[in-house]
Amino acid sequence: MQIVCVALDVPLSTLFDYRVDKGIAIAMGQRVIVSFGRRQMVGMVMECVATTGIPAERIKPVKQVLHDSAPLSTELLELLRFCSDYYRYPIGQTVLSALPARLRSDRPIVSKQILSYRLSVSGIALNLDTFPKRKVVQHRILAKLAGQPCNLAQLKVLSATVGKQLKELMSEGWVESSPLTLPLTLGLSDVTSDHSAEPAKNVGQVAGYPACGRSEQVEKHIFNNAHTLTGEQQQAVDAIISTQGYACFLLHGITGSGKTEVYVHLMHHVLQHGGQVLLLVPEINLTPQLENYFRNRFPEVALISLHSGLSEGERLHSWQQAQAGVAQIVLGTRLSVFAELPRLALIIVDEEHDGSFKQQDGLRYSARDVAIFRANQRGVPIVLGSATPSLESYHNAQGGRYRMLRLTGRALAEAHLPAVRCININQTVMHYGISENLLREIGHRIARKEQSLLFINRRGYAPVLMCTGCGWLSGCKHCAGKMVLHLSDKRLRCHHCGYQLHVPHTCPSCGNADLHPVGSGTQRVESVLQERFPEARILRVDRDSTRNKHAWQAMRERIHANEVDILVGTQMLAKGHDFPALTLVGVLNPDSALYSGDFRAAEKLFAQLVQVSGRAGRADKPGEVIIQTAFPDHPLFRALQTHDFVGWAASQLAERQMAGFPPFMYQAMLRAEGKLETEVYAFLNRARTAAVALRHAVDILGVVPASLPRRADHIRAQLLIQSTKRKELQKFLRAWQPLLDTFPTQKLRWSLDIDPLEF
Ligand code: ADP
Ligand code: ZN
Ligand code: ZN
Repeated sequence: MQIVCVALDVPLSTLFDYRVDKGIAIAMGQRVIVSFGRRQMVGMVMECVATTGIPAERIKPVKQVLHDSAPLSTELLELLRFCSDYYRYPIGQTVLSALPARLRSDRPIVSKQILSYRLSVSGIALNLDTFPKRKVVQHRILAKLAGQPCNLAQLKVLSATVGKQLKELMSEGWVESSPLTLPLTLGLSDVTSDHSAEPAKNVGQVAGYPACGRSEQVEKHIFNNAHTLTGEQQQAVDAIISTQGYACFLLHGITGSGKTEVYVHLMHHVLQHGGQVLLLVPEINLTPQLENYFRNRFPEVALISLHSGLSEGERLHSWQQAQAGVAQIVLGTRLSVFAELPRLALIIVDEEHDGSFKQQDGLRYSARDVAIFRANQRGVPIVLGSATPSLESYHNAQGGRYRMLRLTGRALAEAHLPAVRCININQTVMHYGISENLLREIGHRIARKEQSLLFINRRGYAPVLMCTGCGWLSGCKHCAGKMVLHLSDKRLRCHHCGYQLHVPHTCPSCGNADLHPVGSGTQRVESVLQERFPEARILRVDRDSTRNKHAWQAMRERIHANEVDILVGTQMLAKGHDFPALTLVGVLNPDSALYSGDFRAAEKLFAQLVQVSGRAGRADKPGEVIIQTAFPDHPLFRALQTHDFVGWAASQLAERQMAGFPPFMYQAMLRAEGKLETEVYAFLNRARTAAVALRHAVDILGVVPASLPRRADHIRAQLLIQSTKRKELQKFLRAWQPLLDTFPTQKLRWSLDIDPLEF
């Protein structure tokens, strides 16, 4: 009898044994259907073994082996086991949550076959010079296919309507298709198993794929608009491509230093050798623009994107293309770190400091950290790129665990870093959050037909409504937070739980009619600007104005077409967008981060301000950044003014070391929430007692309220465990978490967050 250990999507930390009847072939990484309790579930075969502790008469059979998708590689299974162990999350839920949703259901999968298109005999005979000019897309397709056969992903760069046009060309009999056959769809396991046993190899080279057959042809066209690299860029590229096996590089390059160009050159190198590249980007950055950018740079290359915005079908299809090795570049957000990539030869994490690489529920993984594990497992290099590296990565690079590569100059000689200046808000006239000086500067920009951007980290009109009679504040009745005034629809809204109310006419507490908005959000700033510059075209970009999926896209086009004079927005505006006419950035209210209880607040603010400053003056026009603050001499602003990340990071690291914070400390946070305060605290105190009793070499802090102690009528509290040694913390967690699992918790939810970013 054969036994398989199956991972199931249930909140238990074990695998489940099932028997396999004679004559059924089964292998690790295959999906199976089994019965669990009274239910039927899809599971993943994690191991095949000869015996089990379960008595023969009680062990249930595997009902069905699903052959509708290729098995997972042992390498990916190992990665998922590591994640389950490291993040203390049930193995079954880890494995199944990493897969596209379609693979978790028992509905049979009808895979779209990946087709290769080529010209038919009559297609070859066509004279393109006499082909009707108005059929632009068809013309382009024919011209491209005349060069070489292509799959749909490769043709998609030509136009959004490629699918329809292709059908027409096929019905004319000019184009024909056949299933794409690549060597990889066959012996996948040969390639992916046991990389550690192989001798070190140069970047890009993949066992079994010596320059991958087609690459001779691909090589010639692969790469568009290559710049001649600057000396620093070239050094970075050389250092990375000459490594043998695993190495982690921190590419610390100021904004505009041409990190993307370094990525492109590295990708080119890897693709030439038949490897696959995984490029991870922050959630907000994965826009159609970025995808198109890489498609245009690599017109002959199959590129897919993987992110949560795809439909289930699209996501499965992309995932399978990666798994089959057809996709050469995988561009994705954090979830794509779990994509199956048989020829993976390079991982790049762009904006590695970005918080969106950390998942905040379920499997609370850091995609950056998992990517590093993965590169190590696979024996390939990984590049972490940023203008403001996380202090964790920076510390590792300084200590020699990562290799530091620096780009200290802007790639375009004429593009200068913006001048940064502070305005003391206590020494100037303020107009609801905007200083007179800043308004004047905006006026100059409008006169010069240049764009300005005002950055404010608060949406809505005002963060709170106040009664001048009795001091009543618009608190949320379900949360510990305040309700934000949204004037456009005359509502108070809680940004924590979504509860909303009509704006009251009189004070709910004393009946006074004098209610005042306190502070400013994006909407109020917008209205101040409208009043001051009635002729100006003002665009507000925040989550409220971009709720519609295509709105942000349309806005970006308006900005590029220079149809906007002033932009007002939240951090959505700060990231990676290149607005050539923008020459002034105003930062309205950064001060709260300076006295925040979160020890990472200053680090985040610095990164944000560097990023938002990087929007100014990227093209030929010099840029200026104006920061409104009550603390113009604060070291953070000083460092921004001198563009001194290095000095700033050194002072931050010194502070962190003194205070015993990461990266000098490894942390795990136990959080609990429930309707009853007593139950929440009883659970955490019990967990704490159990932790103390284990007598491990870790610090066990006190049980304290969460930073938002009540949300949506739930009381929230937490317990932090830390150690200066990651290993010790892990050892402790392995002993502690199984105990937590045994506590009765019907009336509350709890979670463990390893390496938490939020407090
Ligand atoms: P980063 O990602 O570091 O902020 P980018 O990669 O966006 O910088 O590069 C900034 C600008 O410089 C882009 O317009 C890019 O095309 C240009 N650029 C990059 N490298 C070079 C180079 N070697 N020569 C000329 N222009 C370059
Ligand atoms: Zn009142
Ligand atoms: Zn609320």
